[in-house]
Amino acid sequence: MRKKIVAGNWKMNTNLQEGIALAKGVNDALNNTNVNCDVIIGVPFTHLASVNDVIDSSKLGLAAENCADHKSGAYTGEVSAPMVASTGATYVILGHSERRQYYGETSEILKTKVNLALENNLTPIFCIGEVLEERENGSYLEVVKAQIEEALFELSAEDFDKIILAYEPVWAIGTGKTATADQAEEMHAFIRGVIAAKYGETIAENTSILYGGSCKPSNAAELFAKPNVDGGLIGGASLEVESFMGIVTAF
Ligand code: PEP
Repeated sequence: MRKKIVAGNWKMNTNLQEGIALAKGVNDALNNTNVNCDVIIGVPFTHLASVNDVIDSSKLGLAAENCADHKSGAYTGEVSAPMVASTGATYVILGHSERRQYYGETSEILKTKVNLALENNLTPIFCIGEVLEERENGSYLEVVKAQIEEALFELSAEDFDKIILAYEPVWAIGTGKTATADQAEEMHAFIRGVIAAKYGETIAENTSILYGGSCKPSNAAELFAKPNVDGGLIGGASLEVESFMGIVTAF
């Protein structure tokens, strides 16, 4: 059975002290709550090692929000997959639309990052999703299919099986505009079919596909009730314990 997962993406928010307090808050809340899904927080690089020290990794997974497309060397300011792994993080968010849009991350670059993550035992949470124009002109299914094929379909079946996908329609990220549960289900079912055609039904059924885009406590349960929606990647609502836990407990 594939895992149900709720993962936070803090983006470039919180200073170190605020981040540690937020991570502790989530960790404490998980100690006092029965949850029916895996829970992960994605935090800035600067916070990883300190956050790792204050959370119970058996209850709360830790993700970086990116990693470099090189292993080591003269790449001033970059943070490599081995560096991320050395902090205790075991996940890395890759291909977020903000990285694609503002930092020019192409499928070619993302393919390299995914490989480096896997080589360093980091589980990629790989984001895909169409922009508004592509939703409106009807090309959204093909766009997402191409994003998956270009960055991931050279992986062996064994490696593909380790990937978590996050469908994040760009028009819904941080806009307050959520995809309807039916829109999410249409895309998630389509993605699962694309995976099945390449890697077979078993791997497709095993792949967790999260929804991201203005997910909040008030809409999480409806989204998560859909058979192909296996959880959420949560931006804004992951920055407060109460709203994040409101989504975690929607399962
Ligand atoms: C995200 O950035 O991954 C995201 C889903 O953001 P938000 O929940 O704020 O729309």
